[in-house]
Amino acid sequence: MSLYLKYRPQDFANLIGQDYIRQTILNSIQKGTISHAYLFCGTRGTGKTSTARILAKSINCQNLGETGEPCGVCIICKAINENKLVDLIEIDAASNRGIDEIRELKENIQFAPSQSKKKIYIIDEVHMLTKEAFNALLKTLEEPPEHAYFILATTEVHKIPETIISRCQRFNFRKIKTEDIVDRLKYIADGEGFTFEENALELIAKQANGGLRDAIGLMEQMASEGELKFDFISQNLGLVGEEHVDTFFESLVAKSTAEALEKINKLVESSYNLAEFNREFIEFLRDKMLDQVNSNQSVEEIIKIIEIFSQAGIELKNTVVPQLPLEIAVIKVCEVSEGKISPPKENKEKDKKGFFGFGGDSKPKEKKDESEIKAAEQKQETEAETSIPEEKEQEKDSAVIEIPEFSLDSVKKNWQKIIDGIPTAFVKMSFKASSPIKTTESTLFIGLQSKFHKDKLSDMSNKNEILIALEKIFEQPINLEIQDLEVKLEPTITATKTQKSKEDKAPSLNEIAEEVFTFID
Ligand SMILES: [Zn+2]
Repeated sequence: MSLYLKYRPQDFANLIGQDYIRQTILNSIQKGTISHAYLFCGTRGTGKTSTARILAKSINCQNLGETGEPCGVCIICKAINENKLVDLIEIDAASNRGIDEIRELKENIQFAPSQSKKKIYIIDEVHMLTKEAFNALLKTLEEPPEHAYFILATTEVHKIPETIISRCQRFNFRKIKTEDIVDRLKYIADGEGFTFEENALELIAKQANGGLRDAIGLMEQMASEGELKFDFISQNLGLVGEEHVDTFFESLVAKSTAEALEKINKLVESSYNLAEFNREFIEFLRDKMLDQVNSNQSVEEIIKIIEIFSQAGIELKNTVVPQLPLEIAVIKVCEVSEGKISPPKENKEKDKKGFFGFGGDSKPKEKKDESEIKAAEQKQETEAETSIPEEKEQEKDSAVIEIPEFSLDSVKKNWQKIIDGIPTAFVKMSFKASSPIKTTESTLFIGLQSKFHKDKLSDMSNKNEILIALEKIFEQPINLEIQDLEVKLEPTITATKTQKSKEDKAPSLNEIAEEVFTFID
């Protein structure tokens, strides 16, 4: 049995982190005003089904306590604890979208309960029900038999018809606080005889992001030989740690957009909690700022970075694409403050071009990319013709456009722009996996470790896309040579490369998803 099930709360007193809900339900049990239909909403692992099962016990307990707590020892309580009560019907709407179950429910609901006083229906992931199943359920909810109670649970309340919601008493289960999760983990660790480092449990709790079930599952996975150690866990989770906050800051100061974006990408791949990373980063910046004040240095730039990342912190809460606010923050710091983008006007221009393909404007993404591809194709055929209108368009927004000289430094500086100029997702991805090694007068040498990416880029039509992207930026024809990456690189690049090498053999699922996502909405 998993630890989560073993330590599932069996009464309201042991329900973690949902004090308001516990008190409200206990009050209505005491007053005898239990509703016939409840809707429990909230993210996974916050205690919805556990609460539903405890409530089912309280409704049917033969020896109910004065506070409304189930006794836990009567025949009914025991039967529920052992999943044996036939009058407690649990339906998982996710499994087959509930058609058969709801039909059966309709047929059987009129019959009186067989063992206990009341029949309880718990419908988990209720948003998954089909339209027909919802309609059938609605009829039942409109006039439930006296002996029937419904507890609906969902992680996605917005998918539930208003007609259903309005029939139910609704509770929003909140994400559980880190401290509360840590307390529970300690309790379980003690119960299991695990030894643990306090910060190891905190790390697990933070990772679970408010979900107790995930936290317990993670702890179970990470309890190596009954020990929970911070280093072991952070290593296994591929977490960033302090030195990564440090190097992230260095990339920003060096204005290495590509490098900083790559670090964010790494965080996403390691499923690191981005909000938590951002918080750690801001704390780090604050320390830096205070240091600089103490030593009479200018703090203008660091304050700017703090402001930009604080804003990102707010946006992280509501974003559809988790890493987007941090990516925008990186670009703001590296490009805007560098003067490469002047905030109000040229920002828009950037967005139009789709810095990541999912940049800020409301135009459908496919369109943008189509136009990019078209532009690239046209340019191939008749260079002169297309370059003229393009220049004109740029002139509208900024008077002077500097053409960067072609050098290794400048390739690195414009790395992200080159990537953005490549129209096909998979080519973009393979190019992204490479590192610039050196340049000659008109040739760029890039290095790749993975054969997969090398093969992709060696293909002539793929290579052509990169050549066009390069030419767009440097305004001169450039050759591309692809080499095996055995060559020693400069320290900064080696650092990112060695980290990369592990998954460089083939692109990870995240990488593919991210790249494809930039093209398909
Ligand atoms: Zn009982």
